[in-house]
Amino acid sequence: MPGFELFGDLERKEVHDVLDSGVLMRYGFDGMRNGHWKAKELEVELQCTFEVNHAQLVSSGTAAVSVALASAGVGAGDEVIMPTFTFVASFEAILMLGAIPVLVDIDDTLTLDPQAVEQAITPKTKAVMVVQMCGSMGHMDALRSLCDHHNLIFVEDACQAIGGTYNKKPLGSIADLGCFSFDFVKTITCGEGGAVITNNPKYYTHADYYSDHGHDHEGTDRGAETHPFLGYNFRISELHAAVGLAQIKRLPEFLTVQKKNYTLLRDAIARVPGVTFRKVPKGGVESYAFLNFFLPDLESARKVSAAFKQNGLDVCFHYYDNNWHYFRKWQHLSEQKSLYPLASEVKQGLQELQNKTFDQSDHYIGRNISCLIKLSWTEEQVQERARKMVSCIKSCL
Ligand SMILES: *Cc1c(COP(=O)(O)O)cnc(C)c1O
Repeated sequence: MPGFELFGDLERKEVHDVLDSGVLMRYGFDGMRNGHWKAKELEVELQCTFEVNHAQLVSSGTAAVSVALASAGVGAGDEVIMPTFTFVASFEAILMLGAIPVLVDIDDTLTLDPQAVEQAITPKTKAVMVVQMCGSMGHMDALRSLCDHHNLIFVEDACQAIGGTYNKKPLGSIADLGCFSFDFVKTITCGEGGAVITNNPKYYTHADYYSDHGHDHEGTDRGAETHPFLGYNFRISELHAAVGLAQIKRLPEFLTVQKKNYTLLRDAIARVPGVTFRKVPKGGVESYAFLNFFLPDLESARKVSAAFKQNGLDVCFHYYDNNWHYFRKWQHLSEQKSLYPLASEVKQGLQELQNKTFDQSDHYIGRNISCLIKLSWTEEQVQERARKMVSCIKSCL
C-alpha cells in the first residue's frame, strides 16, 4: 500500500507550484498565490473519488479521527466503541477529547464484531468507530443498523483501506463521517496529512472551523473572521496538499498494481492446506493493500512469522506480538501512563482494561499474518515471494 514507493515528476510539479508562489499556507494570501489552492483542489478531488459532498483536509489521520468525533459533538465522558485491533491513533483521538475508548472484540473480518458492539452499548455510548483494517471492512449493514437503532454516531476509519468498496460505495463514505490518513505508509501520501469526509453539511462546517482555531472562513480578511466556537490547529500545509494532489490522480494505477500483486500471492498460498483467509463481508471489495491469512493456531503463526523473517520476506506482520496495533501490547493505555492528569471519568473507563482479556480477538489476531502489498515489486519478485511464502508455510505446518 505504500505511497512512499512511487514519487515522481507529477508530485515534483505540484510542489514546485507552491514553492514558486511562496504561499505555504492553505488559507489567505490570495494576491500572492498565483491561483494555487492545492488543499482546496485536493478536497474537490477527494469529494469526487470518495463520492461525498464534503471533504476537509487536516494535518494527520489521527487529527482526522479526533476532528470527526468533535464535529459530531463527542466529548467529555462520552463512550466511543472501538476495536481491539487497530492503530494506537484510534484511542489517542478519543482521549484527546476527554472521551472514553471502550474496546470490543473483532471477528474474522479483523474489524468490529457487531455482537460485541451491541453488548458494549451503555447509556453513555455516543459513537461507534469501525476501523477498516488492512484493506478490508466490517459488517457495515449490521453496524449501521445498530447505530440507527441506538441513535449513535457511526464513524469509519478508512485509513488503511483507501480504494476499497462496500456495495459499490467507497470505504470511508458509508458511515456518518469517514477518516483518512495520508501519512508516509498509506496508499496515497501527503508526507503527513489526513481528511474527514461526510455528507452531513453541519459536521463538515464544524470540521472546517474546528480544524483552524474556529475560523469561519467568511470573506477575504482572515483577521476579521469570527469564531463561532472553540477550535484548534489541525491544518494541512499547501506543500503537503500538493503532494497529495499528485498522488490521488495516481490512485487507480496504484490500486491496479496492488490487486495484481495481491492476487498472485493469494492464489499461491491458497493451495497450502491449513491456510485460510479473513472474511470479506458480502458486497465488499478489498483495497488489496494487505494480504491477510490465518494459520491453524498461535504457535504455527509464530513459526511462520519467524520463517518469513529468516527468509527475507519483509513487510509481513504477526500483529499479536506487535506493539502498535493490538490491545495486548498497549500497556501505556491500560496502565494510564499519561504525562498529565487524566479526567476522572477517563481514568475510570480505562481502569476496566487493567485485567481485561479478549479471547475472541486473540483467537483471530494470534493466528493472523498480514502481508503488506508493495507497488514497486516486479512480477518476478512477486513470483519469487510467492514461492518463498509457500515453502515457509509448508515447512511450519
Ligand atoms: C495510519 C493510521 C491512522 C493515523 O494516521 P496518522 O496520519 O499517522 O496520524 C489512524 N488509523 C489507522 C487505522 C491508521 O492505519
